[in-house]
Amino acid sequence: MPYPGGLEAALTRYEPVIGIEVHAQLRTASKMFCGCAVAGDDAAPNTRTCPVCLGLPGALPVINRRAVELVLATGMALGATVPPATRWDRKNYVYPDLPKGYQISQYDLPLASDGLLTFDTSAGERTVRIRRAHLEEDTARLVHATLPDGRNASLVDFDRSGMPLMEIVTEPDVRSAEEARRYAEELQRVLRYVGASDAEMERGQMRVEANVSLRPRGSVALGTRVEVKNMNSFRSVERAIAFEIERQAAALDAGEALRQQTRGWDEARGVTYVMRDKEDSEDYRYFPEPDLPPLRTDPAWLAGIRARIPELPASRRARYVGTLGLSPHDAGILTSTRETSDFFEAAVAAAEGSAATPKAIANWVAGELARLANAAAGTPRGRIDRTGIGPAELAALVALVEDGRVSGTNAKEALAVAFETGEAPAAVVEARGLGRIADDDALGVEVDAVLAANPAAVADYRAGRPQAAGFLVGQVMRRTQGRADAVVVREVLLARLDATVAEEDR
Ligand SMILES: [Zn+2]
Repeated sequence: MPYPGGLEAALTRYEPVIGIEVHAQLRTASKMFCGCAVAGDDAAPNTRTCPVCLGLPGALPVINRRAVELVLATGMALGATVPPATRWDRKNYVYPDLPKGYQISQYDLPLASDGLLTFDTSAGERTVRIRRAHLEEDTARLVHATLPDGRNASLVDFDRSGMPLMEIVTEPDVRSAEEARRYAEELQRVLRYVGASDAEMERGQMRVEANVSLRPRGSVALGTRVEVKNMNSFRSVERAIAFEIERQAAALDAGEALRQQTRGWDEARGVTYVMRDKEDSEDYRYFPEPDLPPLRTDPAWLAGIRARIPELPASRRARYVGTLGLSPHDAGILTSTRETSDFFEAAVAAAEGSAATPKAIANWVAGELARLANAAAGTPRGRIDRTGIGPAELAALVALVEDGRVSGTNAKEALAVAFETGEAPAAVVEARGLGRIADDDALGVEVDAVLAANPAAVADYRAGRPQAAGFLVGQVMRRTQGRADAVVVREVLLARLDATVAEEDR
């Protein structure tokens, strides 16, 4: 805790002003300006390269149409403005991971500008303005290694070079560490719903950077900005920014001038550290890319992209609470991925007219089915659409439970069996006799068998100890393995016992 009294105390004196930049790797099959396949994590280094992404002289770039469409779709999902035409710029700088000496990027004409993102926080709903989203190519990756002869070396893996990257920049509207995390989480959901990026932070597919400055409460002037990088999870985003707020507040209290810096987040030590002092304005000497023509955004093309954008998580959450009567908590869980949300909605649609309510289906989707999906080795984590159990099949099972035709415990068993065998859960209930014994005659046979096997308990009951009936009900439930309705069992059992007592009284 670098500030006396901690974050709370720092926040009473200072207001954080935070802007966030996110780089997201786009979900394309090939790279941004060449035909090289986008490398998976397991690809051997430097196996996905060509003269274009190696930056060899004379190689000519060709625009990846899919990458442009994914940025446009993201921009539309954020309510941003799309320009009638855009162009490509060269961002010039020298670094070992960039042999060309420039990145092809977008400077004054991004593919999207002036958007908004609304998200929930513990203090209510917040909206942050999005300044721009643009498209650029990624750099190569430096790998620091010790060679077999003991020398230290920096190796360059060009598989990442030229991968399509979207940069999304907010206005400095974020006011707390929690808001920064919530913003990043909601943006990840939007990117995934739109299909723009897998946006897995741990795998570097979504990289979050924050510009953090403080000003005394009530002041409007902006303080000195510090850029924070290397935050590899949502939790790190919140922790790193909280640390930075406290660090800056302590420095300002002590009358120290803050330096404009880039700082990294050390997850293990829980501190930020200086990576480099930043010059006032980095001069990349942007100029229009001479090898690429400007790109016109044809209205018919844009309309086609817009038509494919699904309903977004915020709208679904509102509908689940408002129309389906779910709690905000459940609505949040069900919309955490598009696959889960689509599955839930398909199950609700299939259950129309049955006893399975949206609330009951929500419990099964977020509960038992999610548990099965997460526990299974062969199913990608959280992908409830990949369990082999379809939405209509789940709805049918939930209807059986809600109708009282199968117990919750037996329904869970049926679901687990269905998951293993690929059968429909309702068929498992039927085939394995997991359904409730609805037939009074069949139940009578079970009750008679229990009475015959427990003469002592029957004698107790006759001797005026009604609690003996509870024991006998338990025996019937055991015998029928949860397939009998305990209330009905009690009725049948008492009718039998009282009949015997009445007979003996005669
Ligand atoms: Zn290439």
